[in-house]
Amino acid sequence: MTSGIQTAAYVFASILFILSLGGLSSIASSKRGVLYGILGMMVAIAATVFGGNVEGHIYIILAMVTASFIGIVLARRVKMESMPQLVAILHSFVGLSAVLVGIGSYLNIGVEELTATEKTIHLIEIFIGVFIGAITFTGSIVAWGKLEGKISSKSLLFKGRHLLNIFLVIVCIILGVFFVRSESDFGLNYLVAMTLIAGLIGYFLVMAIGGADMPVVVSMLNSYSGWAASSAGFMLGNDLLIITGALVGSSGAILSIIMCKAMNRSFVSVILGGFGTVPSSSETSVIEGEITSLNHEEVSELLKDAKTIVVVPGYGMAVAKAQFPIYDMVQELQKSGKTVRFAIHPVAGRLPGHMNVLLAEANVPYDIVMEMDEINDDMSSTDVVMVIGANDIVNPGAEDDPNSPIYGMPVIKAWKAEQVIIMKRSMSAGYAGVENPLFYKSNTQMLYGDAKESVDKLLGFLKSN
Ligand code: NDP
Repeated sequence: MTSGIQTAAYVFASILFILSLGGLSSIASSKRGVLYGILGMMVAIAATVFGGNVEGHIYIILAMVTASFIGIVLARRVKMESMPQLVAILHSFVGLSAVLVGIGSYLNIGVEELTATEKTIHLIEIFIGVFIGAITFTGSIVAWGKLEGKISSKSLLFKGRHLLNIFLVIVCIILGVFFVRSESDFGLNYLVAMTLIAGLIGYFLVMAIGGADMPVVVSMLNSYSGWAASSAGFMLGNDLLIITGALVGSSGAILSIIMCKAMNRSFVSVILGGFGTVPSSSETSVIEGEITSLNHEEVSELLKDAKTIVVVPGYGMAVAKAQFPIYDMVQELQKSGKTVRFAIHPVAGRLPGHMNVLLAEANVPYDIVMEMDEINDDMSSTDVVMVIGANDIVNPGAEDDPNSPIYGMPVIKAWKAEQVIIMKRSMSAGYAGVENPLFYKSNTQMLYGDAKESVDKLLGFLKSN
């Protein structure tokens, strides 16, 4: 392939990636967005592999076929609610590859053939690329561990951790100066030492994040992985990788800013690993009230009497795969003239947009799916709110308990409704690991059981007369 054709293919792939991002901005056009992304990636890979200066095609194709096979098997097996873990581990691969590309690029004899200035610029590119890559790698592994439950979702806080992080960054900068100045292969020692320290920084940054703030961390690591890929593009002199990395990096950063706003967190604090911190008193306020529960028949009677109903789905709906019977139940209620809508919290479930995707899968029309901000004002005029497998996103402690780790996060104000039904299996806490005072309020009733089984039973009672 001539370099002209390769450049044209790169421009075409870049346009497809931009169209892909545009398509992903709404649920209706998201499938088209994904297709553009796949097509763009196929063009990009073909143009790179069959472009100039590439040898050993047979090995590359063999590696690609094997890796694609593993990727397809893993992606087909992964459960919807485990997607964030998959995303986190994939981010770690991007970070690791930036580290390996950097080290490989340094060991490449091509460095020796550069002029003094070119060599300095190339070494700085390598150093920054490996630094970002190492932070992304360990940070993503910790994020995976926290999401998978292998590492406690509580934030690891200790006195002086910000000072320690600053100190580690300064050590990396000093190592960078030695690295760029080093004349012999000794520079590799500085590079490896910095890689280990940057890995430690990534570890501390994400360990400091508390459970409820993990969504922002996942999108932040997404952004870091983009910048890591972009820096690998600089090291390899590959324009397409620079552009693609920058697209991922900037869109991830924009998503992080949007999520920070949605969760009332400071973006600067997020990227410095300084949010999600539990205030020093660390004791949440004592909860007053009693837990009361209803059975399925009693809840169905309550629903029959209600005129306006709001369904608040959460992570438990995803686990139970209850979206299909829930929509059947909603249609049954609509048949008897009730107004039924869904209230979606921006971080419900374990992925941004998790609930929207599941409800779309069950063919729930978009016009009854409301964002938190659109529906919160209507809560006080709602007869029944059904909280199905959700917990943190309806926790009033986020509004009125300054000692709560989720204090300040906007939540769905379910407690303002006339009646609240909480459908979950037990009294166990949500992802943030905090108690929920909503369950103790006088207008709240628990309906214990798996969300899907409970909705099936409710549907049976609703249809029975
Ligand atoms: P939560 O994790 O707060 O609560 C889910 C509840 O569902 C649990 O209390 C659990 O209680 C219940 N549950 C689990 N399985 C079932 C089942 N089969 N049937 C019925 N209930 C079930 O979820 P929310 O959606 O309310 O909040 C999301 C949390 O996840 C937030 O803290 C958010 O910050 C965090 N997060 C979100 C991400 C995102 O991007 N959206 C990413 C990472 C974290 P029980 O065991 O008693 O049934």
